[in-house]
Amino acid sequence: MNIVDLHCDTISRLCNTGESLWENTGHFDIKRAVKSNMAVQFFSLFAMPSDWNTALRQILKQLDRFYQEFELNSDYLYLLKKYSDIEKSENKKKIGCVLHLEGAEALGTDMEILRLLHLLGLRSLGLTWNARNQFADGVGEGDEAGGLSLKGREILQEMSRMKIMLDLSHISRKAFFEALEHYDKPVIASHSNARTVCDHRRNLDDTQLRALAAHGGVIGVNQVSYFISENEGTLDDIVRHIAYIADLIGIEHVALGSDFDGAESTIMKGVEDYLVWEELLERKGFSRQEIEMVLGGNAFRVMEAVLR
Ligand SMILES: [Zn+2]
Repeated sequence: MNIVDLHCDTISRLCNTGESLWENTGHFDIKRAVKSNMAVQFFSLFAMPSDWNTALRQILKQLDRFYQEFELNSDYLYLLKKYSDIEKSENKKKIGCVLHLEGAEALGTDMEILRLLHLLGLRSLGLTWNARNQFADGVGEGDEAGGLSLKGREILQEMSRMKIMLDLSHISRKAFFEALEHYDKPVIASHSNARTVCDHRRNLDDTQLRALAAHGGVIGVNQVSYFISENEGTLDDIVRHIAYIADLIGIEHVALGSDFDGAESTIMKGVEDYLVWEELLERKGFSRQEIEMVLGGNAFRVMEAVLR
């Protein structure tokens, strides 16, 4: 079955380690991904929160790194900019790459920068990482965190117009609900789990999950152990999150968002472990159709709605 994964930090890791995208010691490389039936991988560009120009330079360097790897591996990768790219026959056996920006410090308040990054292939954006920035507060600001700024509302409208996907995984609870009101397309929470199952600030509570579903969105379940369980998490524990979310808001809102190369403490060894997921979900009583939806179908639906 085709796999769509809504979040990995592989590009910034490669910038730090100097390893290649074809083969490396991290969680994701092309060699393993091809064997695991990866259809689409979202690649995050990420700079630790800093001043806008420093962040922008880092993001541009990561983009350069991505493009170098992309050129070297164009037999295996294509850049997914429009949904119709998925349907092109030359792309059928390749991995679609969606470029994502995690935390929008690099944009400053200049829509020109957003438009240029869009020209370079950016198709997904999370306004914040954990900290507050010019657009919104992140989950790291705690229970009293604020919502969207005026600029935050403006950029959401611009993103919708430009057909850039909105990712709400790191944003504060207040900004989460406000963003849903100001962005008129389905959204993703690319790498989060259910807070009722595991009480971590990066997970979504039931009210957030219901709102996500009401706006046609999907949540990509995260396989980093501290988002899954207070103890040592297992693959079975991830399935508990999937089952819980499916019971609460419907299986059509569950997707995958590994967070590969974003944390040390992970449950999967890497992308090769996706090979066991079909059987894993089957053993837990999910139907073939439901498994197909979780592994890729639901994410395809949101991509199709936004990236038209
Ligand atoms: Zn993240």
